[in-house]
Amino acid sequence: MSKYVMALDQGTTSSRCIIFDHQGKIIAKAQKEFQQIFPKPGWVEHNPLEIWSSQLSVMIEAQALSNIKAIDLAGIGITNQRETTVVWNKETGKPIYNAIVWQCRRTAKMIDKLKTDGLEKKVIETTGLIPDAYFSASKIVWILENVDGARKLADEDKLLFGTIDTWLIYNLTGGKVHVTDYTNASRTMLYDIKNLCWDKELLEYFKIPYSMLPEVKASSCIYGYSKEGILGGSVPVCGAAGDQQAALFGQCCFEAGEAKNTYGTGCFLLMNTGKKMYHSKKGLITTIAASNEKEINYALEGSVFAGGAVMQWLRDGLRMIKNAPESIEYALKVKDTNGIYLVPAFTGLGAPYWDPYAKGTVVGITRGTSKEHFVRAALESIAYQTNDVIQAMLEDTNINLSCLKVDGGASANNFLMQFQSDISNCFVYRPEIIETTALGATYLAGLAVNFWKSKEEIKNNWLLNQEFKPVMKIEQRAKLLEGWSKAVRFALMWKDI
Ligand code: ADP
Repeated sequence: MSKYVMALDQGTTSSRCIIFDHQGKIIAKAQKEFQQIFPKPGWVEHNPLEIWSSQLSVMIEAQALSNIKAIDLAGIGITNQRETTVVWNKETGKPIYNAIVWQCRRTAKMIDKLKTDGLEKKVIETTGLIPDAYFSASKIVWILENVDGARKLADEDKLLFGTIDTWLIYNLTGGKVHVTDYTNASRTMLYDIKNLCWDKELLEYFKIPYSMLPEVKASSCIYGYSKEGILGGSVPVCGAAGDQQAALFGQCCFEAGEAKNTYGTGCFLLMNTGKKMYHSKKGLITTIAASNEKEINYALEGSVFAGGAVMQWLRDGLRMIKNAPESIEYALKVKDTNGIYLVPAFTGLGAPYWDPYAKGTVVGITRGTSKEHFVRAALESIAYQTNDVIQAMLEDTNINLSCLKVDGGASANNFLMQFQSDISNCFVYRPEIIETTALGATYLAGLAVNFWKSKEEIKNNWLLNQEFKPVMKIEQRAKLLEGWSKAVRFALMWKDI
């Protein structure tokens, strides 16, 4: 009887492998960074072969560190940076160009054209996404139009497209399997999330041949088996989900109305909306949550561009703090921000404002403003922005969030978590294991091979590290929120002055 599940966590800056046991405990872990390629300002690429080789090496490292054999592994689950696009030759298995990374802005004009061509509504209604260069569709088009010979190969049905999950599964299975899961398909801007099929009209518009696209499967099912030579035996590859959906699953947000927020460089808040697909009026994205073969679950997603990044800015840009954890000491030295607000719109504002031109703003400064107030305002800004997303979700769904599960690097900050609880008037729960992304992929894989029998069984693994409960008075909350919304107005207005 196999005792472990292996998770491949293929992120934007590193590839990681974690081996978990039946209780969801980490047994072994290995991580390797890979090169970020910036050919021009605003362009971001990765070498797909380096992604594969770094992933392969951490798998073997984790296996060697724990002395776990292929036979001890019940399955492999994959979670990945989303939207990043790889196109490769079906006959040779070789990429025809670097992977174009989700952050890459090279196709922004293509999206402007899509809007003037009148397709914005179609995209929103069919794919649940707001048209943007961020998603895979325009990146595939760029490769077909700009790589020598690509169009001809595509017309001859000789090219394959995949997001990173697809690329890894293809390589793990020795080129035998070309699949993706619902969550990753729903980030391509080509997938009809209601009828669960690639959308013909969008494919025609973008001139992307159907033959390039992977088969879309459940997030938890056996896609294929790893090639014998890789782990010293064949292991089922049986779980896949994009990183944010994997974290939602890893946090055991299985029921409609349950939500998680990941406090990383940016923040990603996802709420499971069950079988119901909400079309947001508040700039949130509708996406498919990790789903099995029997039932599709949807989620609403809102992103905050500058989350933990605000702490990096205080540390590296302003040199106000030595490291992120130190921010707590400063924040707790004062009883409030003395009326100042920082709106960290460094790269515009995300949901619910979606304004790429908004600028970072600090308001309310007086002679009495100290570094402590500033650091506190920076931390609070992460919670205010998250709260804006929570409120947008409330308005879209009428679901009042009773609790928020948290993870990501900045969720370690107790001051921030308490302020989040206070300002959003909801309980905040931080689990023991904040590696929820990898854990989600593990659970999906484990469920597919009966390593875990049910979601109920998995829920027992979710252990609380700390609970934060709201203690702020109503009037105080209202006053602070009023100040924040005034400050945001300044950030939005700045460009017009
Ligand atoms: P990512 O996956 O986006 O790289 P992580 O989940 O690793 O992000 O979290 C790193 C981010 O969290 C950084 O932006 C860092 O500034 C922030 N961070 C880490 N520890 C703390 C802390 N104790 N308080 C506030 N922010 C923190």
